[in-house]
Formats: sequence, structure tokens, C-alpha cells
Amino acid sequence: MMYISTRGQSPKLNFSEVLLGGLAPDGGLYLPEQYPKFNESDLAEMRSMSYPDLAFFIFKRFIDDIPECDLRVIVDKTYTADVYGYSRESQDPSEITPTLKLENNFYLLSLSNGPTLAFKDIAMQFLGHTFEYLLSKKNRTLNILGATSGDTGSAAEYAMRGKKGIKVFMLSPYQKMSAFQAAQMFSLKDKNIFNIAIKGVFDDCQDIVKAVSNDLDFKAENKIGAVNSINWGRILAQVVYYFKGYFDVTSDNQTQVDFTVPTGNFGNICAGHIARMTGLPIRNLVVATNENDVLDEFFKTGNYQPRTSENTFQTSSPSMDISKASNFERFIFDLLQRDPNKLSAYWKKIDQGGAFSLTPDEFQRIGSFGFISSSSKHENRISLIANYFKRFDIIIDTHTADGIKAALDHFDINVPMLALETALPIKFEESIIEAIGIKPQRPSALKDIELLDQEFEVFNNDVEAIKSFIRENT
Ligand SMILES: *Cc1c(COP(=O)(O)O)cnc(C)c1O
Repeated sequence: MMYISTRGQSPKLNFSEVLLGGLAPDGGLYLPEQYPKFNESDLAEMRSMSYPDLAFFIFKRFIDDIPECDLRVIVDKTYTADVYGYSRESQDPSEITPTLKLENNFYLLSLSNGPTLAFKDIAMQFLGHTFEYLLSKKNRTLNILGATSGDTGSAAEYAMRGKKGIKVFMLSPYQKMSAFQAAQMFSLKDKNIFNIAIKGVFDDCQDIVKAVSNDLDFKAENKIGAVNSINWGRILAQVVYYFKGYFDVTSDNQTQVDFTVPTGNFGNICAGHIARMTGLPIRNLVVATNENDVLDEFFKTGNYQPRTSENTFQTSSPSMDISKASNFERFIFDLLQRDPNKLSAYWKKIDQGGAFSLTPDEFQRIGSFGFISSSSKHENRISLIANYFKRFDIIIDTHTADGIKAALDHFDINVPMLALETALPIKFEESIIEAIGIKPQRPSALKDIELLDQEFEVFNNDVEAIKSFIRENT
């Protein structure tokens, strides 16, 4: 299995090279040269598998440069009931991503039971173990540099903590994360984790990461890498739970289902697209956005016009406050029948701060990929959180509420609908209190996390100072 770049000007690479490499040298994103296909008899075999068995079965078709016995060890370390122990009381943590039936043909697929209580753990934990394995094989080390406004940074740190050959330098805006998010990250005591609070906003942090990464000498000398949302390993890991959810809500392998996905960088739903391309019977993939509704507009009109960061709203589902959806290019590549020249022409406009419009033919073709969309607003989230608490006695978080809103917009009672739960409500207490007047209960292990000792460095918005800090600590 080789991987090709969406822009068509980079060498083909195998899985390990793609995983450790990030962006393709031509600026594109890597995708499998051909999607593997799971046929009827595969699906029949997969239906009864445990989560790790299913993950192994799927990964094998995408990865042929890690010996199967080693891949099996990685998978078994990654998907354990211990790591995904925050599931609701009625659910079995060994399911990893349990499904909860809400009403007839309407389900919640719980993806947020990992250590940082958001779905990013599922992919990041796999990345942590796979990085550690590959680096030790290649006798290399890696220093991960990232910027976070909350969810990604904590998922990366909990996945990489204590891993051999890996250090993490995570920039976050000083005093701008929620107390819970800050406590999650800053209470980690592992020697390979460096929390750097920048006196500035999230965009300043991201600009520092870009500036450091653009210094190619520094990058090579200090073995700087990333685990951002374009990482192919993250997308691949997310494919698994679409299969798991499908098998949970169907009893044969022809029934079609719909999935709704709270969407920001388009990574999660891109995994749904890939599951569909490999043969999973998905009818619709519903893209759910918040007030930052650029993708909703695209799927309704065929015009893609990313916002500038000044025009990106700060909402109560902050992990979806994205100006440019970095994985969107992967889907458009397939939509354009994998023509790298057409894709490059469109992205040239995007990279220059512009927009593009699909031709009528291209726009028509979206239907054959099952994509539809909806957006929601703060008041929709708040009223859905209240409504679900009353009707089903469960508390959903604001991002999941964006998803439920879109799922209800497109729900067809004859087709099973799975709405993806992307975070647990305790991460976003303020909105929950606004909706239902009470604080969501915390798992006992996290009760007093804000009271733990915190360790972090505070820096001015100064690229050179960050570089020196990295140099001293690698
Ligand atoms: C990251 C995140 C999203 C958006 O997922 P993408 O893969 O970027 O589309 C949605 N909800 C939560 C809680 C997240 O952390």
C-alpha cells in the first residue's frame, strides 16, 4: 500500500513515512493510492469482532510496512478498557466506542471515553504507540511542537507522555484555556512534556509554530515534528469506529445508515468518507457546523470561501471554530476524481486567501458521496442540551449538540442515524450550567484536577525565545 499526494508532485510513500512526515513536500496531503475494499464476506467476519480485532483487521489493509505481529501489539496496547474507562455507567468500557440508543433508529456513538474526554484520544493514542514503535525501529527521536486552544494539546500530551524517543513542546495561550483544560495539561509531571504558555492568543501560538517550522535548519537540527489534524495516522484510526457503530445498529451487511459528525478541520468526517469508500454501507454523511458555517455553505452551494481568522467567530463549541478545514482537501481530491491538477488549481486560490466554486458537474457529484450538511447556533445547542437532559436523562456537550441538531434536520425514521459524541460535557461546564442549571458530574479521578500542582513555562510572544527553550531541552 503506497500513498500519493493530493497535489501530484511528491514521491509515493509507505505508511511509516507518511505518518512521520506530515505535509507532502508539494504542500498536499497523502491518501492511499487506492482504497482497499471490504466485501460482504469481510463485513460478515468483522461484524462480531471486538474493537481491537476490528482495528487490526482494518489497519492491515492500509499498512504493509509494519509486520503484522508488531501492529497487533500496538493495537492491543492502544484500545483497552483501562484507557477508555470514562464511559457512562450503563456502558461497557471494553466497547471503546459504545453506542447508546436514544430513540427508534436514532443513536449516539460515544467517542469521548478516553483520558482527555474528547474523541481526539482515539486517534492520538494510536499515534503515540505507533510513533514510539517506529522511532525505536529507526533509532530516531522526535520533538513534537504544537499549538493548542485546549483539546488537541491535551490529547497529544496524554498520548505521548512517557513515550521513549518523544518529547512534546505544546504552546497554549496564557490564561485563555478553561480551568479544566489547563489543569489537564499543566498537571502532567512527565519529563518529556513541556507546557509553554504564551502571553497572547491561540493564533499567536500557531504563528510561532509556523515560524519555527519554516526555519528548516532549526527543524532538522532539532528533529521537530507535528501531530496536527492532517496526520494520516489520525484519520486512519478514526475509520474504525464508523465500522463499529455500523455493526452496533444493524443486523445485516446491506442496510444503509447515516452518520452525523460535528466538524471543524474535517478530519473526523473524512474518516467516515474513507469508511464509505472502502465499502461500509453509509448512505449520508451529515456535516454539522456551528456559526462558523463555511462547510455548510459549501455543501449547499459548491462555493468554498474560508474565513480569515478575524472573521472566525468564538462560539460555545470552540473546537469547531476553524477558519480553514485542513483535511477538506482530501475529500475534494476524491470529488475531482483524483485529478491533482484541478485540485492544485483550486488550492492555489485558497492558499492566496481566495475562494473557489465547483463546476455544475462537480457539484452534482457530491450527491454520489453522500455528503449533506447543516449548521447550528448557540441557542440551538443550549435548547438541545436542555431537551436531551429532560427526555433522556443524559447530558451532551456543546459540540455533540451541534451534531444532534444537524442529525435531527436530516433524520429519516427508516434509516438508522448515528450522531457522533465528540466530547464529554464536563469539558464545557459553563454552557451546561446555562442550559440546565447544574454542573455535569465528574468522574472521581478528575474531581479536583484544578487543585493539582501545575507545571508550565510562561513566555512572551517571541519566536527566538521559544527556539532557545527547545534547543536547551532536546
Ligand atoms: C476537534 C473536535 C471537533 C472537530 O473535529 P474535526 O476532526 O477537526 O472535524 C469536534 N468536536 C470536538 C469536541 C473536538 O475536539
